[in-house]
Amino acid sequence: MIQYIKDLFSGIWNLLQGMKITMINFIRKPITECYPENRGTKVYAERFRGELTMPHNANNEHKCTGCGICQMNCPNGTITVKTKQITTDDGKTKKILDQYLYDLGSCTFCGLCTMGCPQKAIVWSNNFEHSVYRRATLVKQLNKEGSKLEEKKVVAPQQEEKKVINSNTNQQQ
Ligand code: SF4
Ligand code: SF4
Repeated sequence: MIQYIKDLFSGIWNLLQGMKITMINFIRKPITECYPENRGTKVYAERFRGELTMPHNANNEHKCTGCGICQMNCPNGTITVKTKQITTDDGKTKKILDQYLYDLGSCTFCGLCTMGCPQKAIVWSNNFEHSVYRRATLVKQLNKEGSKLEEKKVVAPQQEEKKVINSNTNQQQ
């Protein structure tokens, strides 16, 4: 009999514990998001990954060198980096980015592309409104029409390493 009463109270206690969470959420405000009315004021967490983008500056320049590391890192084949050869003013041949294609429909937002990019040329935007009628519309070109590589591009990792070594050597002297 005593065991029966103990079990009864234990059951009621556990039930109340579960109901506590329900009641907290029931009375908290706001209960629902006023979407899409709050589109302009909605605050997103910094870590939110909505869509891959390639920032361009005011001169329509980006930081992508077309190295292809992000394409190799992507487990889904979501990124296609197309490059082309150009001849610079001083007669040298150089590889530059031609098209940066991103298939949003196959992206799992794992972030392996952004984490691996040595130039930090691609970042996440908060945009999550991706509804379209045709899947093909989800394939987007991230480099803008007529854009080019930023003039003061980030130094290649090997060169950067050499610079650090040199400055350390100078400090020791
Ligand atoms: S986005 Fe970054 S990793 Fe991808 S091709 Fe451009 S520079 Fe290379
Ligand atoms: S987030 Fe992941 S799946 Fe999406 S493009 Fe980057 S590497 Fe590919």
